[in-house]
Amino acid sequence: MSELSVLPLSAWLNTYKGIGIIAGPCSAETPEQLATTFKALNVLDVGAIRVGVWKPRTRPGSFEGKGEEALTWIKDLKSIIHKPIATEVASPQHVELALKYGIDILWIGARTSVNPFNVQDLADALKGVDIPVMIKNPVNPDIALWIGAIERIYGAGIRKIAAIHRGFSFFQKSEYRNPPTWQIPLELKRLYPNLPLINDPSHITGKRALVASVAQKALDLNYDGLMIETHYQPENAWSDADQQITPQQLKELIENLQIRQKTTNNTFFNNQLEILRKQIDSLDEELLGVLASRMRVVEQIGLYKNDNNISVFQLERWNEIFQTRPLWAEKMQLNKELIEGVFQLIHLESIKKQTEIAKKNNTENYAEKI
Ligand code: PEP
Ligand code: MN
Repeated sequence: MSELSVLPLSAWLNTYKGIGIIAGPCSAETPEQLATTFKALNVLDVGAIRVGVWKPRTRPGSFEGKGEEALTWIKDLKSIIHKPIATEVASPQHVELALKYGIDILWIGARTSVNPFNVQDLADALKGVDIPVMIKNPVNPDIALWIGAIERIYGAGIRKIAAIHRGFSFFQKSEYRNPPTWQIPLELKRLYPNLPLINDPSHITGKRALVASVAQKALDLNYDGLMIETHYQPENAWSDADQQITPQQLKELIENLQIRQKTTNNTFFNNQLEILRKQIDSLDEELLGVLASRMRVVEQIGLYKNDNNISVFQLERWNEIFQTRPLWAEKMQLNKELIEGVFQLIHLESIKKQTEIAKKNNTENYAEKI
């Protein structure tokens, strides 16, 4: 699929200074919790209220949501809450019930968007329905799977679509519950510039103290919206207690957001930017020139190793490169991890090149023999 003709976020969600903000509790717990939280959110700059009624939990035994009962509480609150309500659906039956109780926006969770069968069932249930659908990234860092889920919903005729970036699960523990791996949503944005992109700093961080900084980072990267878990008593929440914030904290978070312009008409600024970009262009050319020269030396070494029947991969040399380059980088005020990553890629490419040389030589020798 090349282009998606989806509607901009502002066509179906009220925005605050151009940013669509969706906030609300992780789960609907009791009628009181819902009413108190919803009323507090009703007077804030949020475009929609989120709430989970079916909770996909990683392990059994945790609170799995109040289901249809919670939908009746939501319906009752609709007379006093004048914001659209969003909920998560994971099956055609959920879709049917959500529509029956007047839910305004649906989202597909990260544990559902991993499964094409599941997403297709949802798409089939949504055919002919005019409702916005937001698609969370799958739990694993697989952009094709995320795109596939979006395509299936698009294929059902839905044009009010947004992608929600909620981070990815990794075996290694980090400061975040679901590390953001920003390059994936940014690649999605590059491929589908029209597709609204919403950040979910609550599920990314897993910790309320970090929510504001990730939300700001998302805006600095031109995201179109934010989804933030908000509960009137976060520490007593039945699910995701560590990451929810209070409506008052949300109010402050929104007030403190730095919302930057995407472009400007200021000619002086634009000219200066142009000059600096020209410098980047010529530096990048230089960088590529050096890399090309390095690759030519790698090829020479490959031939030399081959002539002397020496194996391509030399552990000691690799260790030496991997230890020295990050140290050199630090001396030049460069990020050590960045340079480790760069040299891993360069080394992989060098091995590939030398293996090709060895393979070609083997084939030629074999051809000579027969
Ligand atoms: C949620 O939004 O509460 C939720 C379950 O999120 P995710 O699908 O991102 O884990
Ligand atoms: Mn949650």
